[in-house]
Amino acid sequence: MKENPIIYYGGDYNPEQWDEQTMEEDMRLFEEAGITIVTLNVFSWALLQPSEDTYDFTTLDRIVDTVTKHGLSICMATSTAAHPAWMARKYPDILRTEFNGMKRKYGSRHNSCPNSPNFRRLSRNLAGALAEHYKDQKNIVAWHISNEYGGACYCENCERAFRIWLKEKYKTLDALNKAWGTNFWSHTFYDWDEIVAPNLLSEHIDETTTDFQGISLDYARFNSDSILQNCVDERDAIREVLPDAAVTTNMMYYFKDLDYQKWAKELDFTSWDSYPRYYTKPASVALWHDVMRSLRHGQPFWLMEQTPSVTNWQPVNRIRRPGEMRLWSYQAVAHGADSVMFFQMRRSAAASEKYHGAVIDHVGTNQTRVFREVKALGGELQKLGNQTTGARTPAKVAILFDWNNWWAVEYSSGPNDRLRYTEEVHRYYEALFEQNVSVDLVDVYADLSAYQLVIAPTLYMVKPGVDEALKTFVKNGGELIVSFFSGIVDENDHVTLGGYPGKLRDLLGIWVEEIDAVPEEAPNAFTYQGETYPATLLCDLLHAETAEVHATYRDDFYSGMPAITCNHYGKGKAWYVATASDHAFYQQFLKDRIEECSIAPVLDTPKGVEAALRESEKGTFLFLLNHNKTEETVLLPHGGLDLLTDCSYAPQSSLTLPAKGVAILKK
Ligand SMILES: [Zn+2]
Repeated sequence: MKENPIIYYGGDYNPEQWDEQTMEEDMRLFEEAGITIVTLNVFSWALLQPSEDTYDFTTLDRIVDTVTKHGLSICMATSTAAHPAWMARKYPDILRTEFNGMKRKYGSRHNSCPNSPNFRRLSRNLAGALAEHYKDQKNIVAWHISNEYGGACYCENCERAFRIWLKEKYKTLDALNKAWGTNFWSHTFYDWDEIVAPNLLSEHIDETTTDFQGISLDYARFNSDSILQNCVDERDAIREVLPDAAVTTNMMYYFKDLDYQKWAKELDFTSWDSYPRYYTKPASVALWHDVMRSLRHGQPFWLMEQTPSVTNWQPVNRIRRPGEMRLWSYQAVAHGADSVMFFQMRRSAAASEKYHGAVIDHVGTNQTRVFREVKALGGELQKLGNQTTGARTPAKVAILFDWNNWWAVEYSSGPNDRLRYTEEVHRYYEALFEQNVSVDLVDVYADLSAYQLVIAPTLYMVKPGVDEALKTFVKNGGELIVSFFSGIVDENDHVTLGGYPGKLRDLLGIWVEEIDAVPEEAPNAFTYQGETYPATLLCDLLHAETAEVHATYRDDFYSGMPAITCNHYGKGKAWYVATASDHAFYQQFLKDRIEECSIAPVLDTPKGVEAALRESEKGTFLFLLNHNKTEETVLLPHGGLDLLTDCSYAPQSSLTLPAKGVAILKK
């Protein structure tokens, strides 16, 4: 993937909904706002293919010609996220069956069965036809497969495909029965055709409560793989015509359905749609930017969608306050984005997204607050040019983040329904974020050699080889933090027998004998470095074998048992935090670990002011983002040139950021 020549600025543009005159007016307004790219053709399948034997590119040709004439780059979508009505009527197998067993009729979007042979054929053909038709269109800089893939299907096509997937994975029924532990509750399968999809009609009580974790876990993997195959089908159809095409699909926020780490390997670059709620913490958005950047080993990603002002689909659609769109756009860039893009460019007049914010509102002019903010940001991005594009984030801390573990932790029957994997990840991330420490969120098989500190929050599932990789990391001098309810099961959700935390037992130097779920109203407590903190959610009751004890529980019959331990292993240390605690604890505990590892935070800043770094041969860029509603002053030990204002700061001078203000200092 080539480096972006600028920070692309624009977004989803649907002029199919408008007449030609409106489009001409859009072009004028886009130029005024500094728009450089449009994503076209996201939902146009019904227009492009009025019947099975006919493609009609007339409307899209007109749009492509117009935006090209006005010098815009194109991110070309393949339109396959909503199938045409005629297709559903002609081939009912393309319609999904829901988790509750309900077969859908035509309607909505994101509604195609991933294992329908007809859907696979028709979507692949469309992607290929688009590539063929636009193969000489030089301003297409990226291909955008489908849109916001997700969900799951439980139809008979999928059930058949699941059996094939299982045969490929397990080869024999004997191996499958062992992996799923089917002697429990008389589940032994004697014929592949006896296997059905795990949903509300079979193993499930609700989406996350299953009676057979192994089956549900495999179905989650199968479903993610099935939908990924749709994406790969289209990617391959494009590559057959355009071998050098840059292909992506837009991912989403805290999205559990799809194993994005597996998906990212099939794409040329990562892109995602960021839609925080009005109360979402800046740390949560930053975390997800870092997940996206880490999917392809730190390669810059695209912010494919965000709203310039408001969403329509959240329970409370609060408009973004003045300055927030700019601040959140720069936060994406600070964490590795090489584009700032919106949904949508012009606000639609009909159907479900007509109240979703847009660059051009229903009034249709440049006389809106939102347009003025978009235009101001467009001017700044033009001024920034290509200075920050391609730059990387230097991180010495990695947090392990694993989709299979996410599924398994939340399918687990017990010990506490309130346990959420992403919240455990967030506890550690937020404390690092607030100390301006750069973090990668990597998969469990990532190369850890570049990191000094690795954190594995609730690593419940230890996949083959992961224990060895962690041991090597610590043996070579790394510092590892593992939190409670870790090392419990293997990749099939089978408990590793012989004492928790299973394969991590000698590395951590502990034995967890029991796990106590803590009611919300009755937390335990522990004292760390002289301060007392709550012990919540789960308390592992453990024995230190070779580990040192750094904190013990205060209350209950396990008062005095270890709550925090540290095991010296080779040249490094392996910490175990046996419970969940409050924010103050994570701040202190991680501050100590950062100091111990001599990891330098990006900058010391007032609370609520984020500092993030990107580096390339073009320079080192320090992003300062004031998330507060008040002006803040930041001391700059090294000084630098603010690329947004051209103000030069001497070493040891200070910079004042207005509320929601941003500075980008080039060292
Ligand atoms: Zn299906």
